[in-house]
Amino acid sequence: MRILVTGGAGFIGSNFVHYVLDKHDEDEIVTLDALTYAGSRDNLDGVLDDPRHEFVEGDIRDRDLVAELVEDVDAIVNFAAESHVDRSIQGAEPFVSTNVQGTQTLLDAAVEANVDRFLQISTDEVYGQILEGKFSEDDRLNPRNPYSATKASADLLAKSYQTTHGLSVLITRTCNNFGPRQHSEKLIPKFLQKAAAGEELPVYGDGSNVREWIYVEDNCRALDLVLREGEPGEVYNIGSDEERTNLEVTEAILNAVGGSKDQITFVEDRAGHDQRYALESNKVKELGWRATTSFEEGLERAVDYYL
Ligand code: NAD
Repeated sequence: MRILVTGGAGFIGSNFVHYVLDKHDEDEIVTLDALTYAGSRDNLDGVLDDPRHEFVEGDIRDRDLVAELVEDVDAIVNFAAESHVDRSIQGAEPFVSTNVQGTQTLLDAAVEANVDRFLQISTDEVYGQILEGKFSEDDRLNPRNPYSATKASADLLAKSYQTTHGLSVLITRTCNNFGPRQHSEKLIPKFLQKAAAGEELPVYGDGSNVREWIYVEDNCRALDLVLREGEPGEVYNIGSDEERTNLEVTEAILNAVGGSKDQITFVEDRAGHDQRYALESNKVKELGWRATTSFEEGLERAVDYYL
């Protein structure tokens, strides 16, 4: 399979590129990434010279470039996005532009080139918050911040290309990822580095917000499976059942690096901060997938990587 991976120099995208090239000897990947502040060639160290891999620096909104790249691919996996909620609160424009318009550009090109499969990488945040129970794929979309609103918009657009144009679209909605190659603005890498340096760890609100955490390699394995064996037109939740409050995550990080609880400070809550996300993931489990890395095990590996 020849795959166009967009956003492949970012956190999850780069882990996916490494994973696929390692697992599937016959596959080829073209990575398209604009190298925004969030992307880095370093994330592709080890595969930049691989003859089965080509890196193209460019924008998913560049119609001509995208049309050229999709000509000879079998599948598109779209990771490219503005991905940080806090930044979307400061300004939503780049989120609408890349996450919505960029996805539309890719979808148009995929239809034009008759690409076999289009995997849209989405998030649990499109469902909004859930105080009890878990979201299933049929639950309504109820995004509550500009980032998740643009991701939900992209999901709807992608679905519409399946019904309108017959494009084979698959959508995955994953919980919070952590592990190697994540940008230092995100909670776990940021807190690991601050904890080890003896600095303060600023926890939003009272730290009671709950997230479900998945080790990035477990997610990549699920994405790869959905890409190859998922049913076109379907949505697949990818959750780990590893729920932690932000305060629990912070304490685990301090424990892992020998920091002190005195380093925790509580700061003004994020505007519109969703209280809890949780996913029911039976559909992807029916394809034979299970998360195999516990939060504690993943955190140990993250400590090794970041410190
Ligand atoms: P990231 O911010 O680390 O990476 C995004 C990548 O996209 C970067 O390399 C960036 O340079 C690239 N990019 C941004 N705008 C682009 C454009 N216009 N054209 C081409 N490339 C562009 O993000 P991530 O955490 O790896 O997330 C990847 C995808 O997974 C996103 O779509 C995100 O919504 C989704 N997701 C992330 C998580 C998570 O916990 N990180 C959870 C669920 C879903």
